[in-house]
Amino acid sequence: MTASATHADGQVGDRVDAGPTDADLTPYGGVEANEAWREEVRRLAAEQDAVVLAHNYQLPEIQDVAHHAGDSLALSRIAAESTASTIIFCGVHFMAETAKILSPDKRVLIPDERAGCSLADSITADELRAWKAEHPGAVVVSYVNTTAAVKAETDICCTSSNAVDVVASIPADREVLFLPDQFLGAHVQRETGRDNLHIWAGECHVHAGINGTELAARAAAAPDADLFIHPECGCATSALYLAGEGAVPAEKVKILSTGGMLDAARETSATSVLVATEVGMLHQLRQAAPEVDFRAVNDRASCRYMKMITPAALLRCLREGLDEVHVDPDTADQARNAVRRMIEIGRPGGGE
Ligand code: SF4
Repeated sequence: MTASATHADGQVGDRVDAGPTDADLTPYGGVEANEAWREEVRRLAAEQDAVVLAHNYQLPEIQDVAHHAGDSLALSRIAAESTASTIIFCGVHFMAETAKILSPDKRVLIPDERAGCSLADSITADELRAWKAEHPGAVVVSYVNTTAAVKAETDICCTSSNAVDVVASIPADREVLFLPDQFLGAHVQRETGRDNLHIWAGECHVHAGINGTELAARAAAAPDADLFIHPECGCATSALYLAGEGAVPAEKVKILSTGGMLDAARETSATSVLVATEVGMLHQLRQAAPEVDFRAVNDRASCRYMKMITPAALLRCLREGLDEVHVDPDTADQARNAVRRMIEIGRPGGGE
C-alpha cells in the first residue's frame, strides 16, 4: 500500500460513525443501570479482587461505577500498578491488550471482546511487514491505537501527546514509518518538518467525521467559546490537524489531555466550551464544571465500539469471567519494548 501524506485541502469526510454495521455487534442489553446494579458490580468486583477501569468515552453509567476513569495509557498504568489480580477494562480491545502487555501476569477481562477500533483495524501486522520491506532500515512509530501484533512490529509507540517528541528523538537521517492515523501523521510532519516521514493512510471513522467546515462554523457561531481538543485515543486528531491549518482561531484552541481538559474546565473564564472529541468526554467535563456550557463540536461523534460496554456486558463479565484477553507471550514481549519506549519519551500524556 502506498502511504499518503495528508488530505490535500485539510478537509475530512462527513462519515460519522459509519464503522461497524454487522448485526452481530448488537450490544448486550436488558440490564438497567440502577442502584442495585451498581452495588452488584462493586460487590462482584471486590469478591474477585478486580479493579474496574473505564475509558473516558464509555457510557456515563460505566464511568461512574468504575474504580477509575481515564485515557487508555493512564488506565494501563493504573492497571500495572494495581495490586488487584484481575483487571476489567471497560474500553476497546486494543486498550485491554495494552493492559495485558504491561501486566502479563494479571487476568485481563473486557466486557465485550467485539468492541474493536476502526483506526487499529486500518493496518495489519502483515501490511506493516510489507511496508517495512519497502523501506529497509526505517524506524517504525505506531500510534497506541494498534493491535498487539502491530505493536510487536513497531520500534516505538506514541500517543497524540508525545508523537512529535517521539519522531523528533529519531536521528534526522533515518526514514520513519508513521502509522496508522494520517491526521496525526500530518500534524507530526508539519511540526517536525521531516521529509523522510512516510504516513499510513488510516483513520478513525468517528474523528474523521469531525468535519472541518462544521468545526469552523461552530467556532464562528460561538466566538467567545473556548475550543478543547483532546489528543488521546486518536479522537479529534482531524480537529488537531484543522486547527494547525488555521481552520479555527489558534488562540481559542486548547490541545489538552484528559486531565488537562478537566483542569482547564475548572479554570476557564469562558461560559461556553466547544469540545472536539468523542462525546463521552462531556460527562466528566460537565461534572467538573457544571456552570460551563459544554457542547460537542459534533454530537454525532460517538464511537459505537466504545458504547458496546453496556451495564449488561459488565455484569456478564463479572459473573462469567468473560471475555478474557490473551496476548501471545512472544508478541507481548516484543510489543512491550515499543510501549515502554513510548512511556520513556516526552510527555506520554493524557489524563493522569
Ligand atoms: S473513537 Fe477511538 S476507539 Fe473508537 S474507533 Fe475511533 S480511535 Fe477507535
